[in-house]
Amino acid sequence: MNNKSKPFCTCCDRHEKNHFYADVYPQNKEVTGSCARVSVTYSDQSSATFIVDLGMFQEADYHNLNDILIFNPKEINFAVATHVHMDHVARFPIAVHQGMECKIYTTLGSQLLMFPALDDNYKIQLTLSERQNTRMPYNVHDVEKVEELIQPCPFHKRTCVYNKNNNKIFITLIQNAHIFGACSVFINIIDSSKKAINFYFTGDYNKTHRLFRTKKIPKDILNFPVNILTESTYGTTFSNDVEKVFEKNIERLMSDENYSTGLIPVFSLDRAQNILYILKQMQEKGTLDKNITIYYDGKLSKTYSDIIYNNSDIFNIPGYKKDFLPYNCQYVSTSTRSQILNNLDKKQLIVTPSGMGSNGNCPFYARYIIPYQGKKKCFMHFVGHQEPRTLGGRLLNAKPNDLISLNGLMLPLRSEVYETQEMSSHATADKLLDLYSKFNKINTIVITHGETETKNKFARTILADKNIKVKDVAVADGETIMRFSSYGMVKTMSVF
Ligand SMILES: [Zn+2]
Ligand SMILES: [Zn+2]
Repeated sequence: MNNKSKPFCTCCDRHEKNHFYADVYPQNKEVTGSCARVSVTYSDQSSATFIVDLGMFQEADYHNLNDILIFNPKEINFAVATHVHMDHVARFPIAVHQGMECKIYTTLGSQLLMFPALDDNYKIQLTLSERQNTRMPYNVHDVEKVEELIQPCPFHKRTCVYNKNNNKIFITLIQNAHIFGACSVFINIIDSSKKAINFYFTGDYNKTHRLFRTKKIPKDILNFPVNILTESTYGTTFSNDVEKVFEKNIERLMSDENYSTGLIPVFSLDRAQNILYILKQMQEKGTLDKNITIYYDGKLSKTYSDIIYNNSDIFNIPGYKKDFLPYNCQYVSTSTRSQILNNLDKKQLIVTPSGMGSNGNCPFYARYIIPYQGKKKCFMHFVGHQEPRTLGGRLLNAKPNDLISLNGLMLPLRSEVYETQEMSSHATADKLLDLYSKFNKINTIVITHGETETKNKFARTILADKNIKVKDVAVADGETIMRFSSYGMVKTMSVF
């Protein structure tokens, strides 16, 4: 039979007898709800399916998607979890409840942080479902089962995770600086015909971290022809756009006689430890008085801090940074809270979750600090992106004396409110471009994990960058399946 008499393949428009391809379906519509399903069809017509991450949709518009798993939990071969943020792992217990029994590969650090994170989220979801009178899609045993399925892998170790009839899949977890334990993942899919399809999932990515070191991506990985699935949260922000104000603000406010208590809302994991370490460095530099008490209030955050402190080698923290708590730092118990509130006219700092102010113990302090009118002024300093509907978002949009609603209470804003974006755990566009430029042969870059407008603009930025050798750039929208052969992307299909 000559080539002409062969029918065109409907999947890839090639005259090929044996097809080897991978269909990738990233479920995220915008930022949250990370889950990419990869379905591999080998040339012997056998198949393998796996997922990278299984997070919750947190944007209000997409809450209904939390009920939809885009794979059969009983049939997938393995899963990978890049890091323990809830928009990447919170739906694993739901999949387990529905029969998932495969291994979940993740880093040693994420394994340590996973249970407290999922257990806390279980309690939050349970409270919400009781309040809203909705059904909980999983129970506490499913959280424990997730822990049992976890298979930790050391960074940079190539691990065979699928092997049938010479069809193989290898994964390599690459440490990245997004948060403690975070990784990117290189996936090397090999067909019995020796052809390969390679993916590099950045996961949530950052280049450097204040507390731990990251290793370089191994050279052999950079030399593979690869399809990169990349996050793009800050795809329209460049390093130069970000002003560093936190240390200056804290130094000024804490040395000015007219100011007293400062409240710093933080995310329990990573931001809390970063802020505490910055305050310690300021004390050592002499820009923050060591006599000022720093109160650290947050049970889950303390659990994370203890895990990180006790396993500094696993998290790659050098010895001199291991002890990241500042001097004169007191962990707050219920009894010390009233003492703090009685001293709002004195200089003290409170570091407490949640990062956007609405949850955790922050509202407890904010209720007194927002309207405080004493001899001196209090302030709140946010240290990350604030969604407009959260307490942080509303405070940043308010003018002095505006009424701020906090759980129904209307509080006049008499304290000062500050913010900074300098501590984002996501890489800015220039750092993402720098990452791609290290790869020697990129077939496709698929942009995901970003707002729609950000993803579209970032696609243009990538295509305009001469340092990046890429054939195609695609934008994932939660509605498209992308087919890859060993040559790169061959076609896209709508899921509907
Ligand atoms: Zn993340
Ligand atoms: Zn994320």
